Amino acid sequence: MEVGISIARAKLLISESKLNLSSENIHLDDVNGRILAEGLISKVNDPRFNNSAMDGWAVKEADCRHAGETVLKIVGTIQAGAEQTISINPGEACKITTGAPIPDGADAIVIVENSKVEGKNVIISGQAKKSFIRIKGENLSKGKLALSKGTYMTPSAISLAATMGYDEVPVYRKPVIGIISTGDELVMPNSEINEHQIFESNSFGIAALVEKMGGKPIRYGIVTDSIDELRETLNHAAEDCDALITSGGVSMGDWDIVRKIMEAEGQINFWKVNMRPGGPPLFGEWKKKPLFGLPGNPVSSHLVFLMLVSPWFSNTYDIEETAPPNLGRKVRVTMKDSVKGAKNKLCLRRIRIISANNGLQASTHTHQGSGNIHSMVAHNGVTLLPPNTNAKIGDIIDAFWFN
Ligand code: AMP
Ligand code: MG
Repeated sequence: MEVGISIARAKLLISESKLNLSSENIHLDDVNGRILAEGLISKVNDPRFNNSAMDGWAVKEADCRHAGETVLKIVGTIQAGAEQTISINPGEACKITTGAPIPDGADAIVIVENSKVEGKNVIISGQAKKSFIRIKGENLSKGKLALSKGTYMTPSAISLAATMGYDEVPVYRKPVIGIISTGDELVMPNSEINEHQIFESNSFGIAALVEKMGGKPIRYGIVTDSIDELRETLNHAAEDCDALITSGGVSMGDWDIVRKIMEAEGQINFWKVNMRPGGPPLFGEWKKKPLFGLPGNPVSSHLVFLMLVSPWFSNTYDIEETAPPNLGRKVRVTMKDSVKGAKNKLCLRRIRIISANNGLQASTHTHQGSGNIHSMVAHNGVTLLPPNTNAKIGDIIDAFWFN
């Protein structure tokens, strides 16, 4: 077991326990935000055939070169969706709609705004443009890899998959993550509560973080600070889930039962990371399932998820940490308030980042205690202040801006 390690080292150790996810074929209706498990090649050319980019007239460009008006004979009309059977000769034009196939012999389009119909003729008063013809395969050719493995399925990627001829695509199965909150003081929100108790909050926020990272959370509720109860819940969760996240019970106290049971009966790969808040997380395995032991303080549990658990999802999907899904992005900010760093630890002070004319500006607003979850809502990012450094007003520093 390694103790008191850097975030970089912790991430490396965690990456060794990434999951090997199988894939499943999911219909495009349900694939928003999923991650492609295989690259997709186009089944068609895009465009599939030469077609008009404008409503107007399909013509021969050479007929329309001279200044002033050109009179062309109308030989037909073609609409999007119609089979192409028309051909035009010099001096002729065919009415055409956007997306319709180009008649044989036509090599340019005159937009409808530059035309006037007079009987069987059309008077052309503007340029005929070859660039208004969309050429077969100019966007994508059949057989080209256009969506690579690891692509996060955005609305545009979903439309592209359909353009390429797919109605369902292979995506990674959602990793199932069991979430267990520990603590004698915890009761469920909106239940009866005694003076010395608090509402359990971490499992709800962590479940939402898991969802944001593309996982399927299962909350196992509250476990009191009893080793036997915890063992039972861990065993049960390890059967159902791909990985486990616990909250609380990882510090030095006598009641820090997650650390105790992991030491005695599980496997701890590391304990304590040089970050603040969030110092005492542990990582290891329970019944061969990766287990993240997050601290109980609500801000700490969220920030440890951000720094360690979220990158593990990226490892599992075989994508860069900076690629979606992620919880935000690293940026440079100018400090509007001074913040004090931490001795030998990366310091994650909560900041509110705004985009101003002169770049991103960051300020602090609420009490910064690691128990104050309101500070995570009143702000929208954190500093990434290197160990043993402070930030003065006007300093430009690294920060993480939440999505
Ligand atoms: P622990 O890590 O168990 O020592 O807990 C540290 C602090 O976080 C204590 O003040 C706990 O009451 C609080 N805490 C622990 N678990 C939760 C939870 N699930 N929801 C809200 N607060 C918690
Ligand atoms: Mg506790």
